[in-house]
Amino acid sequence: MEQGDAERPGAEQWLPERHTLSALRSAAADCRGCELWRDARHIVFSQGKASAAMMLVGEQPGDREDPEGEPFVGPAGELLNRALVEAHIDRGRVYLTNAVKHFRHHASGKRRIHDKPAVVHIEACHPWLEAELQVVDPAVVVCLGATAARAVLGRPLSIGRSRGQRFDGPPTSPDAEVFVTTHPSAVLRLRGKDGFEEAFDSFVQDLQVAAQASAGASAAHESRSG
Ligand code: SF4
Repeated sequence: MEQGDAERPGAEQWLPERHTLSALRSAAADCRGCELWRDARHIVFSQGKASAAMMLVGEQPGDREDPEGEPFVGPAGELLNRALVEAHIDRGRVYLTNAVKHFRHHASGKRRIHDKPAVVHIEACHPWLEAELQVVDPAVVVCLGATAARAVLGRPLSIGRSRGQRFDGPPTSPDAEVFVTTHPSAVLRLRGKDGFEEAFDSFVQDLQVAAQASAGASAAHESRSG
């Protein structure tokens, strides 16, 4: 088996019969759909309610998220929080998840170094994301980085060329509008360097565009509901 290959056939067989967020969260804790569960401390499933109009999809949990079991609680999460505030998005009303639910990493002494998930991990974990999209059925999905975009849209694309565009929702959430932006950790890597402020502002602008689409979709939904 080549390095990066998942050793298991995917998460499908661990999905519960009833798709509710609590049933999915509880079933995912037992998932052995690829080998990433073995070296992780916790699964990091998601944060947020099924009623959320906006879903943010990241790559995978990091070194801080893994022991805490919550998404976006480390330094990239702090940067995301700042950007959400500037974009006037209430994190409490957003559904936050990742394309891959366990932390892929390797050891370097006592440190655990992040490894990007391979395509095989994105595919193995996809049944969870698909089920979340089905349950939440968000008006807007924001893909944070290339891994998330690949997981949601099912194909590789360039973040630089895709920012600012609207994509059709995936089959499980066909009415959703999908936007693509950078991952907050990519902005974080520029901290203290030239280009940080510009990268942060662009990230906020991308979130604002998604927030406007989400507000428009909510207004349309309310007017249809009378
Ligand atoms: S990364 Fe996804 S598919 Fe792999 S074990 Fe974890 S939950 Fe299952």
